[in-house]
Amino acid sequence: MRLTLLLLSTCLALAFSNCNAATPKYRQVDDRRVGQVGIRKIVGRHLWLYTDLPASNAVDELPLVFDKAVEQWADYFGIPPLRVAHWQMQGFLMQDRAKFATLNLLPETKSDFVNGYAQGYELWLNEQPSEYYRRHLLLHEGTHGFMHAFLGAAGPGWYSEGMAELLGTHRWKDAQLQLGYMPSDRKQVPMWGRIKLIRDANQNGEPLELEAVLGLGQRTALTTDQYAWCWALCKFLDTHPHWQTKFRQLKLHVAERDFNQRFLETFDRAMLQTEWNAFVAALDYGYEPEHMAMVHKATRIVGRQDAVTIAADRGWQATGWQLEGGKQYTITAEGRYQIAFDQGPWPCEPGGVTLRYHAGHPLGMLLGAIHSPVDNAFSKPLALGTERTFEAERDGQLYLRVNDSPAQLSDNQGSLQATIAPKAENR
Ligand SMILES: [Zn+2]
Repeated sequence: MRLTLLLLSTCLALAFSNCNAATPKYRQVDDRRVGQVGIRKIVGRHLWLYTDLPASNAVDELPLVFDKAVEQWADYFGIPPLRVAHWQMQGFLMQDRAKFATLNLLPETKSDFVNGYAQGYELWLNEQPSEYYRRHLLLHEGTHGFMHAFLGAAGPGWYSEGMAELLGTHRWKDAQLQLGYMPSDRKQVPMWGRIKLIRDANQNGEPLELEAVLGLGQRTALTTDQYAWCWALCKFLDTHPHWQTKFRQLKLHVAERDFNQRFLETFDRAMLQTEWNAFVAALDYGYEPEHMAMVHKATRIVGRQDAVTIAADRGWQATGWQLEGGKQYTITAEGRYQIAFDQGPWPCEPGGVTLRYHAGHPLGMLLGAIHSPVDNAFSKPLALGTERTFEAERDGQLYLRVNDSPAQLSDNQGSLQATIAPKAENR
């Protein structure tokens, strides 16, 4: 049976800034009056939450979850604990929205929001079909509230929503909270679906270019798919071993109008585009950013017999070999390395192990991609194995890796030697 996921969008981008300069504003709520219609108040240190949902652990612990998130937001954004000590939000978690509307408890500026909304020191959530997603939405809106309060703004739409998604995606287990979590399995994040949306778009040949993501959320509310892309870009940069530090500095510029320009100037654009393409092509639950970060090399003309070493525990690795479109090359590979998967470590050679496939090829098989700025070769790699002669489809540098899940590279060990030889008739 094919399960259909209900994928949910979250909230609308906030259209204001600099709310930290103002005195905190909370609408006045008459606890006795709301209590008469079944709305109760759950109080934490940094959040008090009005809800018409019946008492349950998952609902009543939300202010505790929020309090733990405040510590992590402060740490992530570099805000001293003393500054956040007295910061509080007032929240509304609604099953029967009409009850809240009657009591004038909806946001005046956006009373028709779909799932969640944050404004100044207040946030609103519609009840959600999973406990995970209800918490996710609270943390998403809380991230907006925190950024506006302590950074003075939240940047353009893609960054504001991407950060709220990045820090809203979490793990909550045994009263421990982990923000910025990479789910290892979709069962950990019921109704979230961001990775599935990216994988579906990629399979349909519709991945979003980097610059298209930067344009999201500028004028209109985001669609569910667009939330997924904003999350993906922030997740990609926030976990990338070479770019994490630069990405995290962008928080200092959220109030600047030319934020996107600064963003583009911060990174090597060609390399960013290359790695974004490779990331989108491989993204899956449990993705290991440290191991999947690409290894680059300057290009050189292929010699008569050139050899490189390719590690089994890394994603795409540059060979330096600049191939010419239309010419033929033979790649041979040898070596014995170890591929780990759920049945334990397995000895492997460049042909791969045929008892298990990943992405249509034997696990551990040597794959290649001729990188070009105009085409995402990483989404449809060449199966090379122990020996293959092929005609280069285009000019570009050859990248190699062994075939494996992006979630299971860290347990691999060893390497292979790959050798390239241009066919004699090329010369
Ligand atoms: Zn949002």
